[in-house]
Amino acid sequence: MRHIDSADLAVRALDGDAARLPAREAAHLRDCPSCARELASYRRVVQAGRTAEAADVPTPPPPSVWDAVLAGIEDDASGGDGPPP
Ligand SMILES: [Zn+2]
Repeated sequence: MRHIDSADLAVRALDGDAARLPAREAAHLRDCPSCARELASYRRVVQAGRTAEAADVPTPPPPSVWDAVLAGIEDDASGGDGPPP
């Protein structure tokens, strides 16, 4: 059994019923739990993206975090004094 291409399932998830699958693929989707699960997971991602609010968007860490990362890398590159605490 040849599964439906993931890109086609993703388009179906994005466009909902407006995305028409060829009859053969639509029939496959009804009979194939694997493709149905993949489509369901894409639909959950689309739904999450469409309902996300500003509070859901991650905020960048303060600059001090990046400075500490760079300092740790520089320590490692220069032989450092062991792993960070
Ligand atoms: Zn399938």
